[in-house]
Amino acid sequence: MKKYNKIFLITLNILLGGSLSYAQQQEVKPIRLSQISDGLYELLDGRGSNGGVFIGDNGVLVIDAKMDKESVDQTIEEIKKVTDKSIKYLVNTHSDGDHTNGNQYFPEDVTIISHENCRKEFFVPKRDGSPSDWEKPEMASFVPEITFRDQMDVYLGSKKVELWYFGVGHTTGDAVVYFPSEKTAFIGDQLFEGRPQLIHSYKGGNSFEHVKTLTKMLETLDVEKYYSGHSAIATRQDVIDHISQIQKQQQTIKALIEQNKGLDEIKSEFDENEARLVESIYNEIND
Ligand SMILES: [Zn+2]
Repeated sequence: MKKYNKIFLITLNILLGGSLSYAQQQEVKPIRLSQISDGLYELLDGRGSNGGVFIGDNGVLVIDAKMDKESVDQTIEEIKKVTDKSIKYLVNTHSDGDHTNGNQYFPEDVTIISHENCRKEFFVPKRDGSPSDWEKPEMASFVPEITFRDQMDVYLGSKKVELWYFGVGHTTGDAVVYFPSEKTAFIGDQLFEGRPQLIHSYKGGNSFEHVKTLTKMLETLDVEKYYSGHSAIATRQDVIDHISQIQKQQQTIKALIEQNKGLDEIKSEFDENEARLVESIYNEIND
């Protein structure tokens, strides 16, 4: 049944092609803020990943930038509905376009912050080898201008936001934005639920490091609610389950390699949508 559904959907996709993607474009829901606690919101819908908004004493910090002007304009409008304070900081949790393309549509006086490796990844050539759009001189002021290595505190008056780095994983520069009193963390794309974890090997991401990085995060921070780019709110147990699921996949792939199976043969043992992750793990083991 599952297989049948998949074939049906693929066929439907081929048949409808452009019109389906047009329909999807039309379905973008307007940006909205969902309140987590006093001054802290999840930033949802629009185009691009989920993010966050924190209202401090003297300004606002936004987590992740959406990916087009309309979504950024709507974000700014929604923030105006809950505070008259201006946006001071924008944190990019990592370098992917659905978290950073909107940087250029925020006011120029907003300070953009990221992990130092995230900033470096802005300049990684595209998959086809052509130079990154962020190399263009007019984009220079929208690349993160303050970077951190292990940990950094950002104060908005008396209110503190903690930025943490636990290592390579989804990319090489994934930041965790931690709100200790709320026991809440925004972790970007370090957790996918209901679909396989994305590991950007071409940027230096690594699934074995991802496991170590998330384990270190669990050991270091006291968090009850994890907010991420593309999943529902996750608990500590969800993160633990995510880690063990990836470890299980790694062990399975390792065993198949030991049986001298090739990549295509190994891929066929997994669900079709797991192919990218399987390939990453395969290459990491063979490296
Ligand atoms: Zn994303």
